[in-house]
Amino acid sequence: MLVSLTKILEGAEKGGYAVMAPDFITKNMLKLELAVAEKYNTPVIISYPSLPIDKFRFFRSWTRSIIKLCDRAKVPVCLHLDHGKSVNVCLKAIDAGFSSVMIDGSSYSFDENVRMTRTVVEAARKKGVSVEAEIGHVGSGKSIVEREKGDDHSQLTDPDEASRFVQLTGVDCVAVSIGTLHGQYQGEPNIDFGRLDEIRAQVSVPLVLHGGSGTGDENIAKSVKGGIRKVNLFTEFLKPYISETLSYYKRNPLRLLLPLDKSKRQLAVIEPVLKRYFEISGSINRGNC
Ligand SMILES: [Zn+2]
Repeated sequence: MLVSLTKILEGAEKGGYAVMAPDFITKNMLKLELAVAEKYNTPVIISYPSLPIDKFRFFRSWTRSIIKLCDRAKVPVCLHLDHGKSVNVCLKAIDAGFSSVMIDGSSYSFDENVRMTRTVVEAARKKGVSVEAEIGHVGSGKSIVEREKGDDHSQLTDPDEASRFVQLTGVDCVAVSIGTLHGQYQGEPNIDFGRLDEIRAQVSVPLVLHGGSGTGDENIAKSVKGGIRKVNLFTEFLKPYISETLSYYKRNPLRLLLPLDKSKRQLAVIEPVLKRYFEISGSINRGNC
């Protein structure tokens, strides 16, 4: 069933686990992610990545079809907009029926980030939609799409600033920068757990970890212990998904085989990755919470 992010994170906070937030780019990918979440009876935050949705012609009807799928699921599902880069994009997602949005003003000044986040929070409240924002900035490693080094630099979260940000904006959860990166790491991840402890001591809302892929099982488990309640994940299963899909089309250039066969193969590469993260984050069998 479709629920808000606040509702899902309440359960995670009580149970001391984190909920995985895998991105999806096609309806098929979403179906596979929901199937895996149902199989392991885990709540899930289905995340639509940062695309210029305010320019999409059929965004509302597409969202309606996505909501139907989420609502039919046997586990709690939050439909979340990941990295909304502008207030307009977030308003469009709220209007279309997303149960949660992220307004990402982390590349702007503190004051501008506060202003953008407050505007989205005000609009979201009226519709019972949850809001995530980011304080500090999670940079990028190597992008698997561009195959080059990311150019935006991380800025680790300052605990005092994070606390002030949450008070000023009334945001429901906040993404923090403690050393993880989007995309692929260039070297070994170096996670600042001391900083996470300080943020946790000062911030009252659930904390979010972006850049889960490649961070390492131990680091993720330790982050969850340290108070992380939502873990974003994309690169680690996107890579095998794309390569399996491409090799399927290479083997079947006329696309004559049943789409079911393609989905089975895609599921076979996505499932082990998601299952592993569901285990590390502690959300398996929490689907009834
Ligand atoms: Zn992110």
